[in-house]
Amino acid sequence: MPELPEVETVARDLARLVGGATICTGRILRTANLSTPDPETFTRAIAGRRIEGVRRRAKWVLVDLEGGLILMVHLRMTGQLVVLPATSTPDPYVRAELQLSDQRVIRFRDVRAFGRLALVARREDGSPSRSLDPSGEAALGDHGPEPLEATFTASRFASDLKGRRGRLKSLLLDQRFIAGLGNIYVDEALWRARLHPLATAAALRAAEAERLHHAIVSLLREAVAARGSSIDDYTGPDGDGEMQERLAVYQRGGAPCMRCGTTIRRVTLGGRGTHYCPRCQPLPRGRRAAGSVGDLKKSSTLRRGPRWSESLEEGSLGATATERAAARRRAVRSGGAR
Ligand SMILES: [Zn+2]
Repeated sequence: MPELPEVETVARDLARLVGGATICTGRILRTANLSTPDPETFTRAIAGRRIEGVRRRAKWVLVDLEGGLILMVHLRMTGQLVVLPATSTPDPYVRAELQLSDQRVIRFRDVRAFGRLALVARREDGSPSRSLDPSGEAALGDHGPEPLEATFTASRFASDLKGRRGRLKSLLLDQRFIAGLGNIYVDEALWRARLHPLATAAALRAAEAERLHHAIVSLLREAVAARGSSIDDYTGPDGDGEMQERLAVYQRGGAPCMRCGTTIRRVTLGGRGTHYCPRCQPLPRGRRAAGSVGDLKKSSTLRRGPRWSESLEEGSLGATATERAAARRRAVRSGGAR
């Protein structure tokens, strides 16, 4: 699932590709993907609006439209935003499309269809409202701080951790505590900070909290610079990311730790695959641990199947030029003969 670096990449690509363009018409092909308003109101309200810019908040892409509206997009599992010539043929996974006045089209493509779109008003402070009423409640008001903003300091993070008795991993996944992190970057940040996923958040020592803050910020900066991790179905509007090649533990269960050589463990914690080095990230003793090794269920070290886009043949239905190019690059990288 795309996390902060991937969503940031999508927003930056889109800003460059379609910033300043005008939307002639917009239509929703699968109504279940639209949270608000109804499809007729959506089509009426979006027509003729210029795209002023594209930005990110948490894991949402926010497309700022002329006249105080925001198109919100959450990619969830398999969502993709692609910009194509208007003449290209849509495939069965396109859930919504925006025709631009310059003969291009923005398509929201989503194989598993868990993604979400919403057309809402921009509130006075620039944040999205929950509806087309700009004085409405903030749509993302319950989200935690943005880890790449200057206000996310080590001391603020340390004080936020105080009083949180839960497991470190679950807390970092909670969007109300910190925005934008998901399974990939939480596992990676914990490895970098040498902290066990079951450590009690509130019991971290000052130096550990500072290490974790530094790990989160530096990891996310690096991942944004690398255009995110192209794992499963993620690809940016302007091509794949490369961070997947630099991940130390995520999907490396059974492989040697890059720091100490110990075998990376893959376990299931709260239903989520969790990867860590048992030597670099020891379970703390006593009350400093929010659980025991018994809570970690052994899990297969096997990767899931190939990305569906890896099985695409040249010219196959649904593949965009970007995907075909990305599939070719991956095949070359992995030494495949495709
Ligand atoms: Zn290690």
